[in-house]
Amino acid sequence: MKKRIPFFAGNWKMNKGPSETEKFVKQLISAIAGDDAICNALKANEIEVGIFPPFVSLERANSAIKSADVSISLGAQNMHWEDSGAFTGEVSGVMIKETGCQYVILGHSERRHIFGETDDVIEMKIRKSLNLGLKPILCVGETLEERDKGITEFVVERQLKEALKALKTHQTFETGIVIAYEPVWAIGTGRKASDEDAQKVCAFIRSFLENNFGSRVAQEVRILYGGSVKPDNAKGLMSQKDIDGALIGGASLEVESFLGIITNGMS
Ligand code: PEP
Repeated sequence: MKKRIPFFAGNWKMNKGPSETEKFVKQLISAIAGDDAICNALKANEIEVGIFPPFVSLERANSAIKSADVSISLGAQNMHWEDSGAFTGEVSGVMIKETGCQYVILGHSERRHIFGETDDVIEMKIRKSLNLGLKPILCVGETLEERDKGITEFVVERQLKEALKALKTHQTFETGIVIAYEPVWAIGTGRKASDEDAQKVCAFIRSFLENNFGSRVAQEVRILYGGSVKPDNAKGLMSQKDIDGALIGGASLEVESFLGIITNGMS
């Protein structure tokens, strides 16, 4: 059974172009080098740290990461489900792979709600990413209205069922799919889910995996929480049994707060 290594993933959204990215990654690398606990944990493979810059900054991030003494994972925030073709303004998984990405965030609530991505579109993207050997971070989560109606689990189950349809046949969990529970009302609002509520939904996700794909998959797949994670709330979240890391938006844009979350989340 593969151990679930805590994963701290920074989703930069539409922030930091190539020069700012290079500057940030250099600062991050030197701050990590000066922090024995994080540096040793990374070297011992006890934690994973990843950044998710905008498409145009991926190549520059990758070059800067390669010069580091420790490994930092790289991912994109989205991709198209075809390899190439007449899709103006889109970027394919083949392309982001060429820039050095190992991961891709799929189904983020901003993609679902601002850009109208449906469960079907997300399913096609998941399938393509797995075929390409790119590890997807599948985001699921309910809106405030759905939460108030008491249908959080129903919504999360539907999103999982639809997005993971392909896995029934491919059984490609080996590629390292990650799931992020991100309640929409907690993203960018400063209103984090309570540790207990976040744990409850993450446990529900794990039981969904167990019921549909068996206990090995359920025990190996990492489930992250995302939504207003900050240095002062990381410890409580990370001490929950079914939370294996954090998908961090705003607080991943500054080296100090990003490392603060990692430090407190590891302790
Ligand atoms: C996100 O963008 O996935 C996110 C969780 O944002 P924030 O941490 O800013 O709430």
